[in-house]
Amino acid sequence: MQDILETEFGGMNDIFARLYEVTKDPDHLLMAKRFDHQRIFKPLADGRDELKGLHANTQIPKFVGAAKEYEVTGDPYYERIASFAWETITQHRTFATGGTSSYEHWRTGPDQLASEIGASTAETCCSYNLLKLTKHLFTWNPKARYADYYERALFNAILASQNPENGMMLYFCSLKPGHWKVFNTPRDAFWCCTGTGIENHAEYGDSIYFHDDQGIYVNLFIPSELSWQEREITLRQETPFPREGKTILTLSTPESQQMVLRIRVPYWATKGVTLKINGVEQEVDAQPQSYLRLERIWSNNDQVEVTLPMTFHMAPLPDADNLASMQNLNPRKNYNVLYHAERGHRYELNLAAIMYGPLVLAGRLAEDKLSQDVIFGNRDARPEDLLAEVPDLFVDEGDPNEWIVPVEDQPLTFRTQNVGRPEDVTLVPFYQIYDRPYTIYWIVIKKLQPGAKYLKTYND
Ligand SMILES: [Zn+2]
Repeated sequence: MQDILETEFGGMNDIFARLYEVTKDPDHLLMAKRFDHQRIFKPLADGRDELKGLHANTQIPKFVGAAKEYEVTGDPYYERIASFAWETITQHRTFATGGTSSYEHWRTGPDQLASEIGASTAETCCSYNLLKLTKHLFTWNPKARYADYYERALFNAILASQNPENGMMLYFCSLKPGHWKVFNTPRDAFWCCTGTGIENHAEYGDSIYFHDDQGIYVNLFIPSELSWQEREITLRQETPFPREGKTILTLSTPESQQMVLRIRVPYWATKGVTLKINGVEQEVDAQPQSYLRLERIWSNNDQVEVTLPMTFHMAPLPDADNLASMQNLNPRKNYNVLYHAERGHRYELNLAAIMYGPLVLAGRLAEDKLSQDVIFGNRDARPEDLLAEVPDLFVDEGDPNEWIVPVEDQPLTFRTQNVGRPEDVTLVPFYQIYDRPYTIYWIVIKKLQPGAKYLKTYND
């Protein structure tokens, strides 16, 4: 049986554990455990990442299954597998979008991603299954960091995987600078990621709210209405997010009742939080990546308004200073020479994405749309000569708030200022780009102060 498990078999342990949950038939639990792939499970249970070389989405459903097996058995072995898998994949093996994998695989060790930037990155099924895993972990241990990852992957890997004009979906999410998104077609190109992809876009309402005995967690800022029947509470959320970091929650309850309302303060909310209850500003002490905890006796039509200013921040790759990978992405330039010295200055080079709040920003690299036959269909045989030129960003300040400005009258549209070479670029949320070349990852070149030592040499 263990030999058979070397092939891709989906989430069979998950399916049988779920069946056992319904039937309580011990044979179904036995069957779930027969699908436990021990060669993969044991190192994870011991806290070791031995994922290098493995096919990513063959494994992630097994981890979702381990989570379910923990829930039906209480065996901590399964809890350790699911938790460590989540930790090492989402914190050490994902790109800025929250997606993972390259050519469907984990080809490198943890924190080695610069060499993996290419056109066949971040298979959409992987993001889909990581969201499932995240949901399990949050229900065991409701930490804001789980919900932060969920938001990141939902807005940047999932929302960005559908073509808004015709509903077609991505297989790989290309991270190759100057490349574009390649979508399926209704008849001739249909991938695993098309199947899971259809489920993705039916699930935006799925993980906005959670509850415990005390009250409600508001994890995502999405216009919605929650009906919590046991407590006869309705919670209505109105929000312009992500155009604006603001949300208004209105509570309906037939009788006033005590409840805890927890509102996520995301990791990116570093410029403070303002809170109004029924129009009256309240004192708040909320750190990024935590929950604003509001416990009180709530009455009908009570209203909570939360403002979380969004700012720009960089999301460098863990091995952002991998010069060989930069050179590989842009062979026409000589980063080696630049790195060592140019007219007596020193430079620090990094491969990084730019974020606005939770949104990955993409550089819009061409005003002309690509033709339909390039954007849709078989993912192979793409004309490389259509790759757009990608500017490098020469910055004095590492803080992007110093060199990105909003474009007037165009929500969520920004422009770099005097840093792009050969020219500045327009930045929009990654999910808004679907018919022209883009880049998410930039080579960011920071001039160090004269006399400053640079960190490494190329040969290091
Ligand atoms: Zn897939």
